Amino acid sequence: MQAILFDMDGVLYNSETPIEGAPETLEWVRRQHIPHLFVTNTSSRGRAPLAEKLLRFGIPATADAILTPAVAAADWLRASAGGPVALFVKPAARPEFDGLPLLPDDAETGARYVVIGDLQDAWDFRTLNRAFRLLQSDRQAALIALGMTRYWQAPDGLRLDVAPFVAALEHATGRKALVFGKPAEPFFRAAVDRLGVPAAGVLMIGDDLEVDVMGAQGAGLKGALVKTGKFRPADRETAVAPDAVLESIASLPEWWRQAQ
Ligand SMILES: [Mg+2]
Repeated sequence: MQAILFDMDGVLYNSETPIEGAPETLEWVRRQHIPHLFVTNTSSRGRAPLAEKLLRFGIPATADAILTPAVAAADWLRASAGGPVALFVKPAARPEFDGLPLLPDDAETGARYVVIGDLQDAWDFRTLNRAFRLLQSDRQAALIALGMTRYWQAPDGLRLDVAPFVAALEHATGRKALVFGKPAEPFFRAAVDRLGVPAAGVLMIGDDLEVDVMGAQGAGLKGALVKTGKFRPADRETAVAPDAVLESIASLPEWWRQAQ
């Protein structure tokens, strides 16, 4: 093991509550000079607010050390041929898309790209239907998913994430979404490229067996599951075999030393 990718929500904190031992483990990682990145499917805010949140929990990180689906999607949109973009993301995530030709928030036609992020309580029938109308009005319009996470652990219980809304639009339009973020292989490859080590030497640590562990393993990385966040004991009864199972992120230094 040469480098680490850290999922954030459910690994370093649960929503607004820090997970015990996270700052100490990250300090250990820095002292050991282990290359690492924070790789999150969070699409409700941009990297700057995410870095501020980490710092609030005692984890210093620069925006450059955080990779999100919005960053990957915006990079791809800037590099592609271009065309109007309809954004379905929270205001806090919009700065990642600066410089792109954005459609007004009430447009129902004219999009070349329809980008779906985590709108949480802002989802309603009208909003979802507007995304559907944008896709139906132009057969060339591409559906873009900011991650395909099904649900996450909120303070009041589990909550729907991006995937169920993307699935609804895929079902209604008969089109497949282009996925930026976990568990899409190119997203893990982009993270590995930034670390500059071979994929097989990278450990992805997450609380989502499918999106984090299976996704990482599918891209040639190792996948470790933490028993925090959305982890449920039933997760262990599935066919996915994590390369490591940690009680929490606090157990990482000890596991790492034994694994070397
Ligand atoms: Mg997570």
